[in-house]
Amino acid sequence: MIKCPKCKTENPSEMKFCGNCGTKMKQADVVCSKCKTKNKAGSKFCGNCGNKL
Ligand SMILES: [Zn+2]
Ligand SMILES: [Zn+2]
Repeated sequence: MIKCPKCKTENPSEMKFCGNCGTKMKQADVVCSKCKTKNKAGSKFCGNCGNKL
């Protein structure tokens, strides 16, 4: 879940716009639990080590 920066509504992390106020959501980076590499939001596997995110 990610919080809307404007209205603080919790939205599913894959949402690109807030379901409450329509603000464009800032997609948080996904940090690999294995090698701590930052991957683009929505990535399913780590670009560095192939670990499932
Ligand atoms: Zn909002
Ligand atoms: Zn990794």
